[in-house]
Amino acid sequence: MSNDENSGIMSRDENVEYLKYTGYLWQPGRNMRVICGILVLFWAAGIINHSVSGKGLSIVEKAVKLIPACAEDQDLIGRLEADAGTNVNLCYQCGKCTAGCPAAFAMDYPPRQIIRLLQLGMVKPALQAESIWICATCETCSTRCPRGVDIASLMDALRREALRQGQTDKKVAAFNQAFLNCVKLFGRTYEAGILLQHNLKTGQPFKDAQYGLPMMKRGKVGVLPTRIKNRDEIKKIFERAQELGGE
Ligand code: SF4
Ligand code: SF4
Repeated sequence: MSNDENSGIMSRDENVEYLKYTGYLWQPGRNMRVICGILVLFWAAGIINHSVSGKGLSIVEKAVKLIPACAEDQDLIGRLEADAGTNVNLCYQCGKCTAGCPAAFAMDYPPRQIIRLLQLGMVKPALQAESIWICATCETCSTRCPRGVDIASLMDALRREALRQGQTDKKVAAFNQAFLNCVKLFGRTYEAGILLQHNLKTGQPFKDAQYGLPMMKRGKVGVLPTRIKNRDEIKKIFERAQELGGE
């Protein structure tokens, strides 16, 4: 310091230097960098906040966009419940049905979500779901449900309604139909026939064709169908199922 060392008082220039050093004095270059840094931090925080809360917002937006089911849809849901002998409003969304479902991994809407769609009056997405065709009617979900919702029966009711509405273009539905046709015709399955029907119906005639010959060679798939005796009994079963509203 070049001030009067005895008095301990800084000169004006030294004061300025000291204030600059401590940051109390406005320095365009240095302070602008600090301000820009702070602004960038705010901007980044805004983006992070937006992206983190974006999902939440979109859920809120979706929830806001929900519209009440029309009377027609409500009627249909009521009929489906009556058909299945269950009440979707009993479900409290615990997820035990989905946790036990052996086919949930392949479903677009697992059982819990199918029930939720119906609770929200969204019957069309439920009817258009692949899940209703993937469901194997194993009854695990209905057995596990702590509220007694018969989900398996509801899946059946949804399938029947989908068929009534002509929704048979799904691959799984095509497979089911091919299977039933073979059982109706021969009294038992005929794998080659099922695959051929399914492939033709779904517009993929050569799908898995490379496996046909090796499987036939190993005796896994018969070349010709085998028929059971008393196929009339099988016919009666199909007729009875149709009377009850089945396929
Ligand atoms: S187990 Fe029953 S209560 Fe739980 S989510 Fe499934 S249907 Fe709903
Ligand atoms: S009945 Fe269908 S939905 Fe229920 S557990 Fe079995 S496969 Fe899943």
